[in-house]
Amino acid sequence: MDITAAITRGKGQPFEVTTLQLDDLRPTEVRVKIVATGVCHTDAIIRDQVYPTPLPAVLGHEGAGVVEEIGSAVRSVKPGDKVVLGYNSCGACRQCLTGRSCYCVEMYERNFGGTRPDGSTALRDGDTSVSSHFFGQSSFATHVNAAERSVVKVDDDAPLELLGPLGCGLMTGAGAIMNSMAVRPGESVAIFGTGAVGSAATMAAAAIGATTIVAIDLVDSRLKAAKGYGATHTINSGSEDLAARVQEITGGEGFRVALDTTGITAVTRQAADSVGINGRVGLVGAPAPGDEVTFEVGTSLMKGWSFRTIIEGDAVPQQFIPTLVHLWRQGRFPIEKLTQTYPLDQINQAFADSKSGKTIKPIITF
Ligand SMILES: [Zn+2]
Ligand SMILES: [Zn+2]
Repeated sequence: MDITAAITRGKGQPFEVTTLQLDDLRPTEVRVKIVATGVCHTDAIIRDQVYPTPLPAVLGHEGAGVVEEIGSAVRSVKPGDKVVLGYNSCGACRQCLTGRSCYCVEMYERNFGGTRPDGSTALRDGDTSVSSHFFGQSSFATHVNAAERSVVKVDDDAPLELLGPLGCGLMTGAGAIMNSMAVRPGESVAIFGTGAVGSAATMAAAAIGATTIVAIDLVDSRLKAAKGYGATHTINSGSEDLAARVQEITGGEGFRVALDTTGITAVTRQAADSVGINGRVGLVGAPAPGDEVTFEVGTSLMKGWSFRTIIEGDAVPQQFIPTLVHLWRQGRFPIEKLTQTYPLDQINQAFADSKSGKTIKPIITF
């Protein structure tokens, strides 16, 4: 069938809205008519080829829409169901079988490889094959053939135009706090970076009862916004003495938990230096392949602190996304404070506004 999609033709080139051909549904796939798709930093780094997903490609990995048709082997959804699309995984490896599908051994191929597992692509531009199945979906398009494991059923009255970002960025931030760092009520949490992931982490920390929640960034307007959804304190690390403020806010103890959402290695180091005894440090940003961080270990050895990397907030989409929808309904995960919608033909403006910080979470509507 013919679809309308935003194609990425070459490294760093703007998205181009065009007509492409979508092939027939496979037995394990779900045809979804897309209502809205979030814009995530990962789309931008693939457009810029930080990771080598073959181009041309249709990106987009925070889709939300309505099921139109299901493959013969699909059991989890039926036509008419409202769905949010998350990352894909194999379902058969040790990690998938133990509830850690974000660390699936086929994570790269299934999400960044540009094809189905059999090497085929679902998309063509005339005679040219186009990479599909980005995060099992490629949802900068009116219709997708999504992998069933990317499909998450949500309530019939769920607002699809708002919920797409639960599929990646917001799930990542919230999951990092609730699952990976397992923040407990009363703990102090520092969140480095106030983009979509950091903002979701801030909301999640508030939702589960952290009592000191510190947003750290370089942009005062974003720090002010963070206070509107859960930050109890803010630090502008460009104009304030970070170490002194950490001591002041935590009464000299350092944070219990620090999360770096920027992926900038100097910031990861700052996060590590900001935690106290038995502190936990998590990295959810996306550094470039080969990036390294150095940690002071001679003195900090005494603290018994820990560091870990985090993918997709350690979340199983089918379990975690409905949880976030419940929290949203209760007003405890107010994602509408982060979002701004753009029609498909404004997709390049959406990416520009995301980069400049004008919009924390752009959502493309179809
Ligand atoms: Zn797997
Ligand atoms: Zn993402």
